[in-house]
Amino acid sequence: MSDCIFCRIASGEIPSKKVYEDEDIFAFHDINPQAPVHFMVIPKQHIASLNEADMSHQAVLGKLMAKLGELARSQGLTDGFRTIINTGRVGRQEVYHLHIHILGGPEPLGRMMPRE
Ligand code: AMP
Ligand code: ZN
Repeated sequence: MSDCIFCRIASGEIPSKKVYEDEDIFAFHDINPQAPVHFMVIPKQHIASLNEADMSHQAVLGKLMAKLGELARSQGLTDGFRTIINTGRVGRQEVYHLHIHILGGPEPLGRMMPRE
């Protein structure tokens, strides 16, 4: 049994509010949403972060990216959305299983990096 919480969510062992699943990827709503719509898309394969990703992960990483628009539209984000991937200590990553955040809502979000 994996001690990685997102591996356990992807396997169905821990319940989640599922958005999408196929043989390679899993998408589910964030438990602490930071926007009216906030979900995450993950590879089922455990990759700790972008720091651990390499060319052997090319196919699944491409599939994740290629699915985002369709998944966002399926959640009502028909006029755009934001993607965030936090990586490592400086990126303030909390869960070390690579995940892409998808955020959006009816109104435009705040600026990504507000100017001082
Ligand atoms: P990050 O800081 O990019 O590693 O983000 C981790 C995200 O996982 C946070 O936004 C958390 O709210 C979310 N999260 C942690 N545990 C769960 C869970 N059991 N179900 C859904 N989302 C979770
Ligand atoms: Zn994992």
